[in-house]
Amino acid sequence: MRITALAGGIGGARFLRGVLAAKPDAEVTVIGNTGDDIWVHGLRVCPDLDTVMYTLGGGISAERGWGREGETFTVKDELADYGVEPTWFGLGDKDIATHLVRTQSMQAGFTLTDITAALCARWQPGVRLIPMTDDRAETNVIVDDPDGAADTAGRPMQIAIHFQEWWIKYRAHIPAHGFVLVGVDKARPAPGVIEAIEQADVVLLPPSNPVVSIGTILQVSGIADALRSTNAPVIGVSPVVGGAPVRGMADACLKAIGLETTALAVAGHYGARSHGGGLIDGWLIDTTDAASVTAIESLGIRCRAVPLMMTDLDATRAMAVHALSLADLT
Ligand code: GDP
Ligand code: CA
Repeated sequence: MRITALAGGIGGARFLRGVLAAKPDAEVTVIGNTGDDIWVHGLRVCPDLDTVMYTLGGGISAERGWGREGETFTVKDELADYGVEPTWFGLGDKDIATHLVRTQSMQAGFTLTDITAALCARWQPGVRLIPMTDDRAETNVIVDDPDGAADTAGRPMQIAIHFQEWWIKYRAHIPAHGFVLVGVDKARPAPGVIEAIEQADVVLLPPSNPVVSIGTILQVSGIADALRSTNAPVIGVSPVVGGAPVRGMADACLKAIGLETTALAVAGHYGARSHGGGLIDGWLIDTTDAASVTAIESLGIRCRAVPLMMTDLDATRAMAVHALSLADLT
């Protein structure tokens, strides 16, 4: 069985562990979000690709959910003592080795697709992990200038800041007016991305952030169209449970694009493939939200309410089994 998934960081990576546990023999391709990628102290950092690689490769910090287990932060502390910004980005000492290899390889002319494959040769994540694009497409957030700059009429100046600055430095506490994926007009899908969607037996949208993880991947030319036209069923899993994201600040992202933080609103945002123009055939929601099943099915989306908390591998495997059965594939 060929399974293709679009994935952000933590929510995507953890769900994929369940997919591999449910279908150990499946050929799994993961299309990773690179909109969050950032240069830090001269190093190229790809947070979502690394979260998937470390999680599936057994190197992730179980407690933090990002970065390496048993990590130290000596280099970060030394840089802070020099007063070098950004001090708010958590670069661990072990993690830095990954970014050094990636940066050197980029300077030698390799593509992010090739570099990711090379890094995965060490981690053996059990999936083929490919970036959504090898080109620059960087998520920026439009906010009122945090330093309070105003125009001549006294209105706050709007500026674009890197997604990581908004997410980590400001903890998404300053309201976002919107998101801009800088460079996406020229970005092409990485080799294998469209084929993986076209040739899949099922396409999964894990409970990743619908706006800045899945939403970002969908903006790359051809990817949303491939989801609309593939013969494979497309099944999504809600990251919103009981009116809140299970983890993180996805509610701030949904609000910025005018959506309520509910499993129903996110299903409606993706839309039904059966109604033309939409992206999903099925949507898993948590048992807490069972009252929304009828409303979601009336959108033309198959829906089932099951436990969606990824508390351990067994619970996560059960979620993956439900997703596959919604696709009639178990
Ligand atoms: P990020 O790039 O690290 O932010 O990770 P993702 O975009 O892949 O996933 C973030 C989303 O995962 C958040 O919106 C969370 O609500 C969701 N999430 C995290 N843990 C769980 C869980 O146990 N169950 C569900 N349903 N969603 C989860
Ligand atoms: Ca991310």
